[in-house]
Amino acid sequence: MKLFGSSGIRGITNKEVTVDLALKVGLALGSSKKSAVIGRDPRIAGEMIEHALISGMVSAGCDVVRIGLVTTPTLAHATRNFDCGVMVTASHNPSEYVGIKLWNPDGMAFDSAQQEEIEELVAAGDPTYVEWNNIGNVTTNSNAVREHSEMIMSHVKPIKPASLRVVLDCGCGAGGTITPYLLREMGCDIITLNAQTDGYFPARNPEPNDANLGLLKKAVVEFDADLGIAQDGDADRMMAVDENGVFVTGDEMLAIFAGYECKPGGKLVVPVDTSMIVDDALPDSNVVRTRVGDVYVAEEIKRTKADFGGEPSGSWIFPQVSYCPDGIYAAARIIEIVQDVGLAELRRRLPQYPTKRGTVICNNERKEGVMNMVRSEMGTLGMVTDIDGVRVEMDDGWLLVRPSGTEPKIRITAEARTGVDELYEIGENIVKEALT
Ligand code: MG
Repeated sequence: MKLFGSSGIRGITNKEVTVDLALKVGLALGSSKKSAVIGRDPRIAGEMIEHALISGMVSAGCDVVRIGLVTTPTLAHATRNFDCGVMVTASHNPSEYVGIKLWNPDGMAFDSAQQEEIEELVAAGDPTYVEWNNIGNVTTNSNAVREHSEMIMSHVKPIKPASLRVVLDCGCGAGGTITPYLLREMGCDIITLNAQTDGYFPARNPEPNDANLGLLKKAVVEFDADLGIAQDGDADRMMAVDENGVFVTGDEMLAIFAGYECKPGGKLVVPVDTSMIVDDALPDSNVVRTRVGDVYVAEEIKRTKADFGGEPSGSWIFPQVSYCPDGIYAAARIIEIVQDVGLAELRRRLPQYPTKRGTVICNNERKEGVMNMVRSEMGTLGMVTDIDGVRVEMDDGWLLVRPSGTEPKIRITAEARTGVDELYEIGENIVKEALT
């Protein structure tokens, strides 16, 4: 039984993710761990799922500490003192979703082997209940947010008081419990939007992408702010808007952060669909590409001792702080950077290449056969990487053909210094040819 996707267990409340499932996961987790810390984002189903998880864990003899409504990076930071961490969140998904994500003490999400262990225990359906006098304790700790803030403040320098005006859009997500206070403590002049937590996410879709941040872009201009910052539902993701109200793309953010975080000769870890502006902006760094998914980026950063890594979707991983993407630390860090050079200028210094993305319909059953043909065909074009789909590197650009994990589609991405349409067409023809 496959419970975990690339971001933990996630699905529609009371349909795909139920208290019954949460209880089973709690029992499985509690039988192998002595202590756990649990938190949740503001989703309507959060507390319901949390209670079921706690009941399961303590039935199996695990002590549980509750830290309440917090961000995912706050929970990941709190996990350092426990055998594991449990976050009830569906991240950037819409309000009807809920999910469970499990964490290790070093801030790394459960890897595939750890997830399989839980899946097997759940599938076995034979939970271990401890004797009545060995059931776990449930206690509450309200220091997690303060400790997370203190950790971040120890890594960033306060700015000249009120020298920067920042509009912060928490999107009614968990970021509202920590980010406005932390940025104010740093010395920013803060204007908040949607900093009240609300599991219906009434203000905007929790995903911090260009289309969802219309209000933030407008507010940055209206308030004459230096930048805008947006987070997703659990604040592990963070994106920014420059002083002109222009959304900074994920590839640009990645290149900007990497420019400050990567030492000469150092390593930068990004997924296969990342723009080559990252390679061109950092000629002195080794760019390592992984499968798409922040957990794969985090694993590679740890394995290769990289300086920095991230995903253009808004997950930025600073290994000196945590292997968990931290949208609060990332907000503090971009503010530190923007003190010296504005975001619009930082964007202007980056190369811009046209990208073209599209999809071709393909039945799930045919995906493997089609991809095998695509792989051999694309091998004739240039250097191929096949860690996630097939990516081919050419002198003037790259082409990625990747089956969608959730939909009956094959995705094609092309980026080129010149002739992006032609390159995309080559990819599209290869896929269509393989389909005939
Ligand atoms: Mg998230």
